[in-house]
Amino acid sequence: MTDVFTPEQRSAVMRRVRGRDTGPELRVRRFLREAGIGYRLGGCGLPGRPDLVMKGRRVVVFVHGCFWHGHDCRRGARKPTTNADYWSAKIERNRARDARNDEALSDRGWAVVTVWECALKSPWIGERLVDAVQGRQATALCGALSGSASSISPPDSTN
Ligand code: ZN
Repeated sequence: MTDVFTPEQRSAVMRRVRGRDTGPELRVRRFLREAGIGYRLGGCGLPGRPDLVMKGRRVVVFVHGCFWHGHDCRRGARKPTTNADYWSAKIERNRARDARNDEALSDRGWAVVTVWECALKSPWIGERLVDAVQGRQATALCGALSGSASSISPPDSTN
């Protein structure tokens, strides 16, 4: 089985997929806008260039593609059949970098909210996201969480 793209072309395609204004990120922005939460784009010079930055709240949001960031879910487990070593090394680097950025941001007092792409299929994602941002909960939202109340930690009641 041969790839229809050369490795260089494949990289270009993948880069475009990862670019700004992807579907998942637009959906996340819409949830926040609908809740009246303002945000800034472009990372504001912060580690890892978070997709959305809420300076006043000191909350950042990352929207992560499950494949690219090596999420522990079905979508993330999908492996390319060509150049498998290359991609798995790349994904491993992404994971390591994400972990470093997360730590650096937490150290500076930012609450890091990660929205995995697989979570966007869940009907509760908008509500959970808004809760996490408003409550400054450092959390990762993914599709493996059930929508039931037992798995949802209540937002911080201090505000
Ligand atoms: Zn996932």
